[in-house]
Amino acid sequence: MKRAVLQRRGLPRAWSLGLSAVAATWLALGLVQSPSATAAVVLQYHHVSEESPPSTSVTPERFKEHMNYLVNHDFKVVPLEQLVAALKAGEKLPDKTAAITFDDAYESVYTNALPVLKKRDWPFTVFVNTNPIDEEKHGFVSWDQLRKMAEEGATIANHSTAHNHLQRRKAGEDEKQWRERIRHEVVKAEQRIEEETGQSHKMLAYPYGEYNNQVKALLEKLDFVAFGQQSGPLGPHSDLRALPRFPFGGPYGSLEDFATKVKTRPLPLEAVALYADWARKEPLDEVVVKEGTRPVLAMTLEEASLAGRISCFASGQGAIETRVEENTVLTRANKPLNPGRTRYNCTAGTGESGRFFWFSQQWLVTGEDGEWQHED
Ligand SMILES: [Zn+2]
Repeated sequence: MKRAVLQRRGLPRAWSLGLSAVAATWLALGLVQSPSATAAVVLQYHHVSEESPPSTSVTPERFKEHMNYLVNHDFKVVPLEQLVAALKAGEKLPDKTAAITFDDAYESVYTNALPVLKKRDWPFTVFVNTNPIDEEKHGFVSWDQLRKMAEEGATIANHSTAHNHLQRRKAGEDEKQWRERIRHEVVKAEQRIEEETGQSHKMLAYPYGEYNNQVKALLEKLDFVAFGQQSGPLGPHSDLRALPRFPFGGPYGSLEDFATKVKTRPLPLEAVALYADWARKEPLDEVVVKEGTRPVLAMTLEEASLAGRISCFASGQGAIETRVEENTVLTRANKPLNPGRTRYNCTAGTGESGRFFWFSQQWLVTGEDGEWQHED
């Protein structure tokens, strides 16, 4: 499979991220075949403050610790669009590469994160929902502050105008009206960002990390890439309309947790499929499922030898059952899913000290009647 991927995408080309000449030559010759060649991570933050809601905040002290960890462990911090370009071109992502992102454009990014990043001359991305900025809402940065951050190397990207759950229809909205509304919420935000900052990268972070297949299809048509909030490193199999990021805030972000996550490698996958049950008779083409179900994630691995080493976990349920069929690992929740967001996280040791392969699958769970119930 690896060979087939390389043939389809052309030989991996070295890219200019400070690779040594020797490593660059190896990459150019396609000699680096181990998963060690692919290990870029995208970090996701909201507030960097002691005063904001803990679930979406890291303290300024914690943020400094994270950044110091990257320095002390020789990580290269690159602009997000550079990682996206490499993924699109099928190029390998060098080990120990990270991009830093902030969602919602809160004021504390300007006051507390910018000075730390500026000191190191590091690029970062702010995903902006444009309505609160246009309305000069308290707690958010201004367009002036965004322009100042852009001057310091920030990428200003799209988080929609209004921060709605994009996959949800509003009351009384038919499918066409809904599609037109979300198209507007994305296109209008991109237009406002371009008018105010001159930037247009066509990168969206889904509000709440939520999407369905129709939202993804619309973004593909608009030529956008899009990021979720399901965890995991970027890899050659990553879905360009559901790219993973590691969120930090609330219970996530102790230095130990951070170190484990930034060192992860993408699970070497050939294919991912979703099913209604173990029998795999009913394929699901959608991450949206109903309350009370226990959907199955099927991961087909490049190497069968890895299959028996994979452990999976579900949100709020701890370790969950896995079954191995040749080079495919199946897993599903122990208990029926509750309405809201659920993730299955699957990991396996890479054989290197403290390093894990990591893959996360998101589910969006409606009520039994198909209606959305959670409001956060
Ligand atoms: Zn957001």
